[in-house]
Amino acid sequence: MNTKPNLIIVGGGMAGAIAAQTLHEEGFDGKITLLGQEQHAPYERPPLSKDYLQGKAERDSIFVHPVPWYAEHGVELFLGGAVTSLDPASRILTATTGTQLNYDRLLLATGSKPRRLDVPGADLDGVYYLRNVEDSERLKIKFAQTGRVVIIGAGWIGLETAAAARAAGLDVTLLVSGDLPLEHVLGPEVAPIFAELHRSHGVDLRYRTTAVELIGNQRAVTGVALSDGTRIDADMIIIGIGAVPRTELAAAAGLKIDNGIVVDEHLRTSDPDIFAAGDIAHTYNPRLGRHIRVEHWANARRQGVVAGKAMLGQDALDVRPSYFYTDQYDLSMEYTGDIGPAGYDQVVFRRHADSREVIVFWLYEQRVQAGMNINIWDVAEDIERLILSARPMDADNLADPTIPLASLL
Ligand SMILES: Cc1cc2nc3c(=O)[nH]c(=O)nc-3n(C[C@H](O)[C@H](O)[C@H](O)COP(=O)(O)OP(=O)(O)OC[C@H]3O[C@@H](n4cnc5c(N)ncnc54)[C@H](O)[C@@H]3O)c2cc1C
Repeated sequence: MNTKPNLIIVGGGMAGAIAAQTLHEEGFDGKITLLGQEQHAPYERPPLSKDYLQGKAERDSIFVHPVPWYAEHGVELFLGGAVTSLDPASRILTATTGTQLNYDRLLLATGSKPRRLDVPGADLDGVYYLRNVEDSERLKIKFAQTGRVVIIGAGWIGLETAAAARAAGLDVTLLVSGDLPLEHVLGPEVAPIFAELHRSHGVDLRYRTTAVELIGNQRAVTGVALSDGTRIDADMIIIGIGAVPRTELAAAAGLKIDNGIVVDEHLRTSDPDIFAAGDIAHTYNPRLGRHIRVEHWANARRQGVVAGKAMLGQDALDVRPSYFYTDQYDLSMEYTGDIGPAGYDQVVFRRHADSREVIVFWLYEQRVQAGMNINIWDVAEDIERLILSARPMDADNLADPTIPLASLL
């Protein structure tokens, strides 16, 4: 009799692929099944708005593992079909194909989908979202055919696609709903760096305005009407107004949902045999003493590892500060940390001799909560250590580029 548990992963993104890899690396040699809705083996999304969109990376380079890796490592891939229902009582999954599968332990890693714009004309041709490799390819083709794009939303996706569109030679107008791009993430002290970056590369930033209607001629979009009463002509529109966790399956199965699927520090949901990881997981972080949901690449990777181990009954957790990165034009940056509900009470700039190089620290009661290194490498780990140390820091020392960060620990 086979006594090894039957492990199933739903969602073929970063978190799902890394969980499968971890199960294998931890010595599990039973049956691992990974079900993914997309036609492709798991791939990385960050290049879709950067090098891949700009035609600088090949499709082969974005996959987490080459396709043969899965069979070679005991992972059975079922691609191109969504799981449509989950019955925790009988531990049965049903896929669109009608196939039913039994699991002993299940990982949900269904990621997010773009938030849809709900205004008249939003379904016209020439209106684009960016989540999948096909979306990126459609954008790349359209960039080569058109001259004017309006981008709705000035978050990471909006800014990265603006940079790619400028690189492709388009006229770019970026609609910023508030006072600055990324203000809710970086605050008013640091967000101007990104506003100036885009302005200096020729992007027309429109502030405190939103789209109230997308205008079309026959089926094709020709412009956008704004809340401030103006109208902008466009050959295409890109919408980047955030993402929504794909919790439908979990919600219908009765799992606890609150800003994603609620999980403990070991990524266990309200059902002890079901785990959740990546963009969908609203995870208890014992270091922070609260739940956080993180829509970033590193979180999906790290939680893939934790989920794989937890599915095998190990006492795994990862309480490192969140991490993400972006590349726009000639600016590359890494951000490490989590600003809590109390916010920050001080921002320290550590400016280097080369004015393009800077590290920013956000502090609360003298403790570093987050740090962002721009055009400087190999410091993210030091920033992480400063955060984890939770020690009060002298702002003058943090600001002084001649003092190594490691010496402040
Ligand atoms: C264009 C773009 C650029 C990004 N750039 C960055 C960046 O620079 N830095 C950064 O840190 N992060 C970036 N991110 C975010 C990062 O890619 C995500 O946080 C990461 O992909 C989350 O991984 P995941 O495995 O949780 O989900 P996903 O990658 O979304 O994968 C989930 C998969 O599950 C599938 N699925 C959903 N429902 C079902 C179902 N019912 N049945 C079967 N399969 C299902 C989906 O089709 C999808 O393939 C970017 C995201 C995008 C879209």
